[in-house]
Amino acid sequence: MPVRYLKGVGPKISEKLARIGIATLEDLLRYYPRDWEDRRCLKRIAAARAGESLTLYGTLQNFEFTETKRGLAMARAQVVDDTGKIECLWMRRKSFKYDVLQGFKKTFAKGRQIMVFGEVGLAPGGKTIFVKDYQVLNGGKPETIHLDCIAPIYPVTEGVAVSFLRELIHRVLPSTALPDPLPPDILLEFKLMPLREALEKIHFPKSPEDVPRARERLAFEELFLIQAVLALVREKRKVPRAFSYQIKRDLLTPFREACGFEFTGAQKRVIRELFADLKSPHPMNRLLQGDVGSGKTVVAVSAMLLAAENQLQSVLMVPTEILAEQHFITLKHFLRNLPVAVGLLTGSADSRAKEQFKRDCLSGKIQIAVGTHALLEDDIAFKRLGLVVIDEQHRFGVKHRLKLTQRQPQPDTLVMTATPIPRTLALGLYGDLDVSTIDELPPGRQNIRTVMAKESEAMKLVLGQVAQGRQAYIVYPLIDETKSKRIAEENEEGDLLPALDLEALGIQKLKAAEQEFQKHKAKTFRDRRVALLHGRMNRAEKERVMIDFKEGKYDVLVATTVIEVGIDVPNATVMVIENAERFGLSTLHQLRGRVGRGTSLSQCVLVGNPKTAQAKGRMGIILKSGNGFEIAEEDLKLRGPGEIFGVSQHGLPPFKIADFNRDLSLLRTAQKAARAMVEKDPGLTRSGLLELRRTLRSRFSRSWLLAGIA
Ligand code: ADP
Ligand code: MG
Repeated sequence: MPVRYLKGVGPKISEKLARIGIATLEDLLRYYPRDWEDRRCLKRIAAARAGESLTLYGTLQNFEFTETKRGLAMARAQVVDDTGKIECLWMRRKSFKYDVLQGFKKTFAKGRQIMVFGEVGLAPGGKTIFVKDYQVLNGGKPETIHLDCIAPIYPVTEGVAVSFLRELIHRVLPSTALPDPLPPDILLEFKLMPLREALEKIHFPKSPEDVPRARERLAFEELFLIQAVLALVREKRKVPRAFSYQIKRDLLTPFREACGFEFTGAQKRVIRELFADLKSPHPMNRLLQGDVGSGKTVVAVSAMLLAAENQLQSVLMVPTEILAEQHFITLKHFLRNLPVAVGLLTGSADSRAKEQFKRDCLSGKIQIAVGTHALLEDDIAFKRLGLVVIDEQHRFGVKHRLKLTQRQPQPDTLVMTATPIPRTLALGLYGDLDVSTIDELPPGRQNIRTVMAKESEAMKLVLGQVAQGRQAYIVYPLIDETKSKRIAEENEEGDLLPALDLEALGIQKLKAAEQEFQKHKAKTFRDRRVALLHGRMNRAEKERVMIDFKEGKYDVLVATTVIEVGIDVPNATVMVIENAERFGLSTLHQLRGRVGRGTSLSQCVLVGNPKTAQAKGRMGIILKSGNGFEIAEEDLKLRGPGEIFGVSQHGLPPFKIADFNRDLSLLRTAQKAARAMVEKDPGLTRSGLLELRRTLRSRFSRSWLLAGIA
């Protein structure tokens, strides 16, 4: 039922309520307070002490209304009880449109009872209370939902007062029957209170202990609903697999030997997990997490070779062209002596190349197809597609992932992510997947020394390393300052922060790769070999530069964030990040991960001038920690989940009450419970699940999630 039909709401107010997301009765009741204020400290006037926040109750005596020249309006009233008197003060900002004191003028009358809540101060004339909230009473002391209680504080918008919301919710709550989506046996098992009780306690707690228990119940509900959908998606995929794998080792063994290093324990364990999936009765759906540089590529290659050993084709999908090219080169190198054909397709391939690629996929000639999301296009067909690997998954939306994996027959799917995401987010975003983690770096890796320095010092350091035969990256936020005021558009969705603030204030000018490259070539590095790389160059140019840099033909690579993910040049030992204050934490960590890939000491130099508290916070974290998971958790605290690589863009509904920082264990519980429920009853047909089914359908009907189970 729309709130519009409630008494006292009407079209005008309902429009305003819509602005804060309240359209229906259910929205209203689920509009949870953002805070609660304990106003139960009702005192006699004589007992009020300066500095205290408290509730007083007495009789209105004299009052007056004044306006200052500075645009303030003030109401002042004397209130007495049988112990003393106090002056009450209300301040309002004047408005051109209406008299901000009109409410006071209407209700104030000598002799009326009034209740006020506020902070006591000391004024020359005696005690004063700066009133935060008040109620003029007609009769004696009433049951109040505003004062002398634990009062809910709601986030509001202009024209909707907190007290109005309180009254509205208080009025409709008792007479509205909201069906509880949580199944009765779940309530019982986890000792959760029924929905009605939770709503009463969250809006109008009788004691402070009511709030956390009600909050937990509502947060659990929120998490459980999402996990239920993800569990359904997961269950739906448990079809019998279309093709089977046998470990033959005629490709795997030579590959291991050609690698030139021993796999780490974590890599071996994860490969075993993957192979077990590939031999199981259902298609694989696994997430592989591992920090930057932990060696995910060879794990993926092992799985793709197992597919090739079984005459199955594989796809390796990555978010940027540069990474696609880099993987293509790496694969060709690893597989140089093996009879495995690798093909490359990127968005900028010309139509002839594309046609050829398509023919080779269809005929089965290409055994491993590497590419960007161009691979998602529907007209690319394979002869026998067995395995899909998606690298740097966090750069793709969930939709992309599902699109590629919804092919028939269902391929085995491995998604890999290097930007470690906070564990709670992982459970949310990847709740339909099984998870493997590489928690060990290859041996001999040094910590990357991270410092903040002036540009001149950074360049000195680069020159020093180059003199020793090492290579360096220098990264800028813009491509070309004459052409784009926007942060490097070609960063292919890198994690960059909005440009407006500092630039608009003229505090800081962002540096651009083009211009700085010219300067460096002419000056600092005039005796060195410098190359430029950014996303607006054409594919052949980019490829040339990358290959040459990898082969040591350049000393310094000036670039934008196109090199953020995946690029692997072990001889590079310095990463200089200019305007570092403007990059998000995950990008900083990824960029830093481009060095420290060999065994010699590597350094990351941040050049920048963090001014805002957030920017300083980010710099502090990146300087302190080299652990991607830790950084991700800190990032979450600093920014909140909504902003971290757009959770909403990943298709998750925003949470009203669950909290990514504190609800990790609740989320785990919800996931376990949801999976168990779905495994027992995949159609959710039990009678206790009726309400749940209805809620899922109405809440997620327009989301990608249901596409997975429809
Ligand atoms: P990421 O997990 O970030 O994708 P990569 O797969 O690019 O990491 O691996 C980083 C570097 O470490 C590559 O140069 C790779 O060849 C190398 N590497 C991977 N595994 C090992 C290992 N077990 N021992 C030594 N070097 C390894
Ligand atoms: Mg990688």
